Amino acid sequence: MNIYIKGIEDERFLRPLHRISDLFFEESNVSFEDDNEAQLKVEVELKVHEEIYAKAVLHDAETDKVFTEELAKSFTPYETEKEKFKQIKNVVLRVYLSVLQEYTSIVQKWGILTGIRPTKLLHMKLQSGKSKEQAHRELKEEYLITDDKINLMQHIVDRQLAAIPDLHELKNEVSIYIGIPFCPTKCAYCTFPAYAINGRQGSVTSFLGGLHYEMREVGKWLKDNNVKITTVYYGGGTPTSITAEEMDMLYEEMYESFPDVQNIREITVEAGRPDTITEEKLAVLNKWNIDRISVNPQSYIQETLKAIGRHHTVEETIDKFHLSRKMGMNNINMDLIIGLPNEGVEEFQHTLDESKKLLPESLTVHTLSFKRASEMTQNKRKYKVADRYEIGKMMDLATEWTQEQGYEPYYLYRQKNILGNLENVGYSFPGQESLYNIMIMEEKQTIIGLGCGASSKFVHPETGIITRFANPKDPKSYNDGFEHYTQEKLKILDELFRK
Ligand code: SF4
Repeated sequence: MNIYIKGIEDERFLRPLHRISDLFFEESNVSFEDDNEAQLKVEVELKVHEEIYAKAVLHDAETDKVFTEELAKSFTPYETEKEKFKQIKNVVLRVYLSVLQEYTSIVQKWGILTGIRPTKLLHMKLQSGKSKEQAHRELKEEYLITDDKINLMQHIVDRQLAAIPDLHELKNEVSIYIGIPFCPTKCAYCTFPAYAINGRQGSVTSFLGGLHYEMREVGKWLKDNNVKITTVYYGGGTPTSITAEEMDMLYEEMYESFPDVQNIREITVEAGRPDTITEEKLAVLNKWNIDRISVNPQSYIQETLKAIGRHHTVEETIDKFHLSRKMGMNNINMDLIIGLPNEGVEEFQHTLDESKKLLPESLTVHTLSFKRASEMTQNKRKYKVADRYEIGKMMDLATEWTQEQGYEPYYLYRQKNILGNLENVGYSFPGQESLYNIMIMEEKQTIIGLGCGASSKFVHPETGIITRFANPKDPKSYNDGFEHYTQEKLKILDELFRK
């Protein structure tokens, strides 16, 4: 869809207006220049005095139909030019979104909000002393978020505070993420650092050598500085793609190096791919008191698993779930994805029916997103996916179904290029929430990333300012520089936590 926007010349508006257009059209092209090719012309009248006034008149060249929206808002006090522009942009985007909603009859449930952590915004408003009513009103007015999404956000915030009553006081502790970058094969939608375990990307042994080093150094720093660990999460890749013996040594390292491991609130190991789970590895997890794992079906349709490059069977997922239960895993998460190739409501219903037979403690429902670097995006034509209406129906189905089974939503995040502009939602039975997921979403404390592709997020305990630091994604670069990456992180920790 080619869109010509008349009346705005400031280039700073171009990208955000493009982003809004992309919510409505598969491929949109927005220009401030009239090239006579545009199907839609949107004339924006913007007046900025004591108040901001914007009017958008949309004209469809094909049908000759015209739609109009206008909005006026007084300024809230601002100090910098940047803050002033932010307010003007907000009004322009709202009026533009509204006129496109009128024209397409599509309601954008998240309004103009494109951030990936909506609940963080609500937490912030509530923490600043605003009442729920006021915070909700602001979300509705400032971003045009619909009531059902605001209610979902509130529900999640309430659940998070029930799961971690001291959520806002954990800034002097840290969580740890450990990235193991190997998988049996690469899934088509994947952009995680995941290298075939038998491939040529540097050896597993040398990678683990680097990881042990990082764990020892960071653990020592935490002990020396009396900083406690709230949660530990092993992700990747698939952390169970290494051997049982290698896993055993890794957890032994964790117990030796990290402070007060017995009192860490939660340790999770993603056993994501069922084809990596064995009795022997489950016994190792048991030995080190790790009982929260993820076994990820994504779908219970065999053809889908094949199409997305997951070389395991549906039966294998079910068998490995039961095996994990038998071996003492009593907090199992399962990931599902809405909108996988060739799947519609019927297929997703089947996946929910199968999930009902297992009822894991938590269930994360993702909506497929076309991430730029994935195989799926690069060969988009090869994969047929449902349209936005069907995606919306599947999402509604997931909401109803989880409610019927007694699950509660407890975290959510959004992604770019996500089908139907929807979200990913983590559900759990009350009391079985993944604390790590809450910590990573709400950015209330520092998360130190160790291993390949692990990004660290350092949250300043006083100011809340976030500093990021990423370890390299490929094992080869990691093996070459792990000492350097460790020391860099320790320097940041020194700046943040040393009194
Ligand atoms: S199992 Fe997960 S990390 Fe591994 S390739 Fe598939 S999506 Fe990527």
